[in-house]
Amino acid sequence: MHDAQHTNPLVTVDNLVKYYPIKGGVLLKEIASVKAVDDVNLTIRQGETLGLVGESGCGKSTLGRTILQLERPTSGTVSFQGQEIQNTDPETMRQLRKKMQIIFQDPFSSLNPRKSISQIIGEPLLVHGMKSRSQRNDAVEQILETVGLGKEHMRRYPHQFSGGQRQRIGIARAIALKPEFIVCDEAVSALDVSIQAQVINLLKDLQEQFNLTYLFISHDLHVVEYISDRVAVMYLGKIVESAASEKLYQNPLHPYTKALLSSSPMPDPTYKRQSLPISGDVPSPINPPPGCRFHTRCPIKRDVCSKEEPKLMEHQPGQFAACFFAKSE
Ligand code: ADP
Ligand code: MG
Repeated sequence: MHDAQHTNPLVTVDNLVKYYPIKGGVLLKEIASVKAVDDVNLTIRQGETLGLVGESGCGKSTLGRTILQLERPTSGTVSFQGQEIQNTDPETMRQLRKKMQIIFQDPFSSLNPRKSISQIIGEPLLVHGMKSRSQRNDAVEQILETVGLGKEHMRRYPHQFSGGQRQRIGIARAIALKPEFIVCDEAVSALDVSIQAQVINLLKDLQEQFNLTYLFISHDLHVVEYISDRVAVMYLGKIVESAASEKLYQNPLHPYTKALLSSSPMPDPTYKRQSLPISGDVPSPINPPPGCRFHTRCPIKRDVCSKEEPKLMEHQPGQFAACFFAKSE
């Protein structure tokens, strides 16, 4: 995929903030807040895949959900096809819901175990006005075929499917209403490596077929490499680097991106946590470190890093990093 092909922004995020209040005391006053997303700016272009990576707890899911308006932003704006959507009326939102979908990590928990596959995939069609059952069944059959499943699967229940098949069902449900934009939130993270590749290939095929735009979220930078046109790296509520994939993988500028990249390329699937060549865990987003949020773990930090916050700046054409000492190796 070439840059020139998708230059129109589909989704634009400006100064987006999402804080979760923490209440305490007898009066249940707000005593602190979880700064899950803290002043994020990004653009997702029509037809592209933007990878969003960072360790667990960095705010990726919150960012994805806030873009989709599944969470109300604390402040900032989200535009879809040039229209701000953070304060839309319910009917406009209902129409927008068709265009913006999400695929979750664990297809099993997001699929109702008591409903057959034809019900699960037919449900959004029904909700959006396809009343005739036979029409729905025809549509479901066609959608199943699109994701590599068959007619024989229609009457089965989620527990009768393998992990990869269930993820195909999750995808089928997401594309049923012909959306334009899909947030894939750790969509392949629970799958074996070989199945991961199949599902990623399916997502790529669907993207071409239906001109889809993806925000592809993963805690693993290596997983997003093959599917992403561009990648944004998130740390403690902030984007710390973004660039076209080739640039980011060949020439990472931010020390956090470098650390993510040097973690093992083929993580043992039985291992939950990746080992990073930096020490410790992500600090609490309730009290993020002052200055650069990464300074407490940064191998190249200096005095200024705990005092001033580095802005996301364009270091090379199209490559942005938020680090005073960002440089290529
Ligand atoms: P990621 O997807 O990168 O793992 P999340 O967006 O899930 O990160 O979470 C970011 C931070 O926000 C975490 O500290 C998490 O505990 C917190 N968080 C997420 N959802 C809520 C919520 N509904 N209420 C309070 N805190 C939340
Ligand atoms: Mg998440």
